[in-house]
Amino acid sequence: MRFARHPVRSADPRRSWPLRVAVGCATLLLAGCAAGPGPHSETPHGDYSQPPLPAQATAMEADGPLPLPAADPNCADPTAGLRPLGPGATGPVLDKIRARGRLVVGLDTGSNLFSFRDPESGVIVGFDADIAREVARDLFGDPDRIEYRSLGSEEREVALVEHRVDMVVKTMTITCARLERVAFSTVYLKAHQRVLAMQNSGIQSLKDLANKRVCTIRGTTSLEHISQIQPDASILTVPTWADCLVVLQQRQVDAVSTDDAILAGLAEQDPYTALVGPSISEEPYGIGIPKGDEDLVRFVNGTLDRIRADGTWNRLYNQWLAALGPSPGPPPPTYRD
Ligand code: GLU
Repeated sequence: MRFARHPVRSADPRRSWPLRVAVGCATLLLAGCAAGPGPHSETPHGDYSQPPLPAQATAMEADGPLPLPAADPNCADPTAGLRPLGPGATGPVLDKIRARGRLVVGLDTGSNLFSFRDPESGVIVGFDADIAREVARDLFGDPDRIEYRSLGSEEREVALVEHRVDMVVKTMTITCARLERVAFSTVYLKAHQRVLAMQNSGIQSLKDLANKRVCTIRGTTSLEHISQIQPDASILTVPTWADCLVVLQQRQVDAVSTDDAILAGLAEQDPYTALVGPSISEEPYGIGIPKGDEDLVRFVNGTLDRIRADGTWNRLYNQWLAALGPSPGPPPPTYRD
């Protein structure tokens, strides 16, 4: 697969879809009526029935599997974490965060079920947001002491490497390749990559997507797996999973492929879509933390241990992720030290 040199077509992300179309048409009408043809007027093409693609949408031609990111060959179990520290623990990173008085958390602000703005309160809610709040509860005795920074999937690692956030809680799979650049907590959710298609589309799995177009995001394990398992699919990458739902609804792609947990959130937003096919891969989610921030990793593992044991994890699962089926119980941690 190869990236096309230019984005396919983009629109101003600050405008809503219908507004964008209306503004575009009005601009063309004005140009045609008032100004007439001139050096700056554009010749209209087509019948304007095509909805625009999201900003930064980029097409990749089917051209064989993408190269996989490099990983340490000795990385046997990337999910084996560091033993936990209790809530009273101190350390250089923990002290700095406590002195600041709030935890800076990177996440998606438009991911249904995981982290999205509650339309009534305007507050960021969801499974990932609540996991972050439990860490803040243990740090400050107050789950509200959080400053959220909105991050796309592709920005997660660099935000950690550049210390723009204390942690990333965004459906982030723990992998050997990522461990080269960032650290992770123990596993807090086990997801599986699957496919979302329109109901009755005839698409049953990734196998049916040869010579079809699939929406995904750059810098994700989802893109790696599609490219390895179905190299004959062409890919459209967009900035967010919500954008993938829009292009599926506009029939600009045949399917979306990523983790079942994320797809369940999209399916809940559009009942004409359905998750299809078997699991393509296991996606163990961890909280991403800058490499070297060992006291914070151990502290977060302490919080995860607490919420596994005191019933909080099950409560949060039942509150947000019931669409995935009955609670499987919290994933048990494994440790390497
Ligand atoms: N779990 C996948 C990953 O970490 C996709 C999740 C996402 O993009 O939010 O790459």
